[in-house]
Amino acid sequence: MTDTPLPAPSPAQPAVQHQSLNAALELAGDQLRLQMLLIEVAASDDQADLDLIVRAYQFARAQHEGQVRKSGQPFLTHCVEVARLLTQMRMDEATIAAGLLHDVIEDTDTTPAELTRLFGKTITSLIDGVTKIDRLSFESREARQAETYRKMLLSMVRDIRVILIKLVDRLHNMRTLEFVDGEAQQRIARETLEVYAPLAHRFGLARIRWELEDRSLKFSDPEAYRAIREKVAMTRQQREQYIEEFKEPIEQALADNGIEAEITGRPKNFYSIYTKIQARGKPFEDIFDLLAIRIITGSVRDCYHTLGLVHSIYRPLPERIKDYICTPKSNMYQSLHTSVVGPKGRPVEVQIRTWDMHHTAEIGIAAHWRYKLGLGAAGDLDSHFAWLRKVLEWQQEATDPAEFMANLKIELFQDEIFVFTPKGDLHQLPKGATPIDFAFAVHTNVGLHCLTAKVDGQVVPLGHALSSGDTVQIVTSPHQKPSQSWLELVKTTKARQRIRRWLKDESHTQSVRLGEEILEREFRRYRGVVPSESLEHVAAEFGFTDLETLHAALGSGDLSVGRVLGRMFPNRPRPRAPMPMRDRRGIRIQGLTNLMITFARCCSPIPGDPILGLITRGRGITVHRTDCPNLHDLAADPERLLPVEWDVPDERAFTVQLRSRSHDRKYLLSDITKAISDTGSNIRRSATRAVDGLAEQSFWIDVRDVRQVATILQRVSQVEGVIEVRRVDDEIAADAGGADGAAA
Ligand code: MN
Repeated sequence: MTDTPLPAPSPAQPAVQHQSLNAALELAGDQLRLQMLLIEVAASDDQADLDLIVRAYQFARAQHEGQVRKSGQPFLTHCVEVARLLTQMRMDEATIAAGLLHDVIEDTDTTPAELTRLFGKTITSLIDGVTKIDRLSFESREARQAETYRKMLLSMVRDIRVILIKLVDRLHNMRTLEFVDGEAQQRIARETLEVYAPLAHRFGLARIRWELEDRSLKFSDPEAYRAIREKVAMTRQQREQYIEEFKEPIEQALADNGIEAEITGRPKNFYSIYTKIQARGKPFEDIFDLLAIRIITGSVRDCYHTLGLVHSIYRPLPERIKDYICTPKSNMYQSLHTSVVGPKGRPVEVQIRTWDMHHTAEIGIAAHWRYKLGLGAAGDLDSHFAWLRKVLEWQQEATDPAEFMANLKIELFQDEIFVFTPKGDLHQLPKGATPIDFAFAVHTNVGLHCLTAKVDGQVVPLGHALSSGDTVQIVTSPHQKPSQSWLELVKTTKARQRIRRWLKDESHTQSVRLGEEILEREFRRYRGVVPSESLEHVAAEFGFTDLETLHAALGSGDLSVGRVLGRMFPNRPRPRAPMPMRDRRGIRIQGLTNLMITFARCCSPIPGDPILGLITRGRGITVHRTDCPNLHDLAADPERLLPVEWDVPDERAFTVQLRSRSHDRKYLLSDITKAISDTGSNIRRSATRAVDGLAEQSFWIDVRDVRQVATILQRVSQVEGVIEVRRVDDEIAADAGGADGAAA
């Protein structure tokens, strides 16, 4: 098309002339766009293969021929802008060519095979990585979107340049978002804030991130955007004056010490002001009071020297000094951060970095890509990949699109901390991470068996929030196992998924075992009776693939044993007598570890108490005392009741509550406490109150069984002043009537 001759003007035919003029202008515009792009590419890299750029341009133009953007511009302008943005980040020619061609698979009938033939495998796979998955294969937008992100992440691991193309593609779309209709505007702005801006941040592309955020804000909250923009403009002069005043002594000191540096005021992006206003509920004035400058020097040594000089001029705010040169952020960001008290007592944030660090801070991974091509320091790329690999590891397990998106957002938004093993190995964790997260980060087996944790030598609870710089030591025990409650304590997707998977496997195994026991026990009552149907047959009828899944359903309470027996022995209905009979053995309750068995909170049964199991749908068996007042209400359906019996190893402890009434006297409490501890029982908690002039005391104590409780009751009742002591049900839990997880 470039060789189309310019049509000659023809004054005799005005209509045609007009058309020709448009064509001429378009052609000129087309030529100009290509020329400009070539000049920019050549300026960024004089070795660049310009022929490739020209071929990519011509192919894109031919394929997108006739397509127009919502702005009225030819579609090709979008492709050229994407290529220019990549050029500005000094990307290589393959990436720039892929930028020109990035929409040909998605929006034209070009096939990947054709692209490979014309431009080779690398460029084709870059383009394929940014191409949305075909809409036809998905039921919902969410599912398609989740699958598209997943594909994008996978392509990024193969070639990190995919994310750069995707981000500048989104950037240009945001720059032209005003032409898109309202509903799509909102959706695109939200997606940009939720996924693309955080991705840009992850890969250290600060400049792109800020622009994405600010442009999204303009559409997601136009009023706030306008208000912030106006206020920033209004306060500019006053702000700049203050910064001048602040800078002066620093510049002097730098000159005196022979340090060459550039000091600039640091503009804050509107979106960060916006989120601070939202998060802290503070007015704009307070937020914008935070002034910030940046000092860029020639060397790392100069950075530290400069930090010292700044602190000798202005008093630093304690705890605000951060050394990201020594410990870079995961997106490779490096700088020294400090906050000092400036003139008139105003706090000023100061960032100090070298030019190289500055470059990395602005374009992140794009800078490292250049290094990889020839300037060394390729190891830096690995830390970006570490995050990606981590994300990909869990994303392969997330089958539900909603879960995938939730996980992706968590990973994208997390701030990080750095903690150490006792040997000094560094682990990076999200803010708020706990020793359990740390244990799983070290190794899955350490996580699964972590018993206690020490931070800098002090024992901390497993739910303790770690801080940067902590040295964490994990003590493991082969007997320790994860519990449901751990899920509440963890912040990392890895730990959460490992715990979930373990719980799922474990509860499956236990359900199967329990289901087998339930059936076996029932079968004993039909000894000698020939079933009308085999168990295998019944399982198939109920839609179970095998006996194991049938057992699991019985054990978890999802299938009632009555239904199974009804099919197998239709002429011998299951007797509706729930009470355990002497000659029948119940399901053996083996302590607190079985996930499918929980102990009712309302009556806190302990070994020795007569008990009864209640099958709870999806949760297995809840064990109540037979005298539990809630049992009759809960067991409206006697089919759900199941005889159970204790079979508990001695070392298991159960918590019961005792209550005593006494005439108060000196040392009463300590005497009762002693009587309890003398039996070897551990007191978890106690409470005292005065009732009618008497002291009423409650103790929550760990015991093995009812015999031990009886001993304790007897000992306590002999303490001088004690009128009565008895075991009571937990009042708080009593009206809830339910059960919660085993109190392991
Ligand atoms: Mn595009």
